[in-house]
Amino acid sequence: MDVKSNLRHIQDRIDEACKRAGRSPGEVSIIAVTKYVSPERAREALDAGIKHLGENRDSGLLHKHELLKDDGPVWHFIGTLQTRKVKAIIDHVSYIHSLDRLSLADEIQKRAGKQVDCFVQVNTSLETSKHGMAKEEVLPFVKKLSAYENIRIVGLMTMAPFTDDEAVIRNCFRQLRELRDEVRKLDQWNAPCSELSMGMSNDFTIAVEEGATFVRIGSSLVGNETGGGQS
Ligand SMILES: *Cc1c(COP(=O)(O)O)cnc(C)c1O
Repeated sequence: MDVKSNLRHIQDRIDEACKRAGRSPGEVSIIAVTKYVSPERAREALDAGIKHLGENRDSGLLHKHELLKDDGPVWHFIGTLQTRKVKAIIDHVSYIHSLDRLSLADEIQKRAGKQVDCFVQVNTSLETSKHGMAKEEVLPFVKKLSAYENIRIVGLMTMAPFTDDEAVIRNCFRQLRELRDEVRKLDQWNAPCSELSMGMSNDFTIAVEEGATFVRIGSSLVGNETGGGQS
């Protein structure tokens, strides 16, 4: 399917989920996750009206950033970020979705020439394979970051477990929203924390119902040219 038709279908489903939840569709931005596809396919997404692109590897990000710079997408780094990769990507991303430890914050603070918009990644599913910090660690972590003038905590990010059990998924997203509201109540100068990055191809409608402001959609929007499963 061409990206344009996929996007129309996804946008319809977002609109319906917003209606069910009494939200405005304008509150939800779609990040096209291009990690499985070529720069040409990523450009198709931009031509279809997508503004936000997401990559989870430094190599993929830098390659597409260079080739697509005239199209001016907003770049999101959505994957686990190794501390030693920060230097390479920091000037090429607008958002980092995977801030999950103090050593990474230290490196961002050191390498960034200006304030960087970050999501704190939270493990809401208690699966050991998932990245992100435990819920209990989030508030103390955010408080520590008040000394980091190059970091702005714009929101929280999570990945739900891969399951058909809708109640389990919904519970993860709801927990993230409640935690987001707690962080916001801190009223900390560099933690407006108004955003929720949650929802992927298989669960974005639930995420939107639970308050997502950024959904990260790869395979059902741009497809998967690697031929393999989702990583
Ligand atoms: C790959 C990836 C996505 C998109 O996954 P799809 O299921 O293909 O939509 C979203 N978020 C993160 C962190 C990813 O790594």
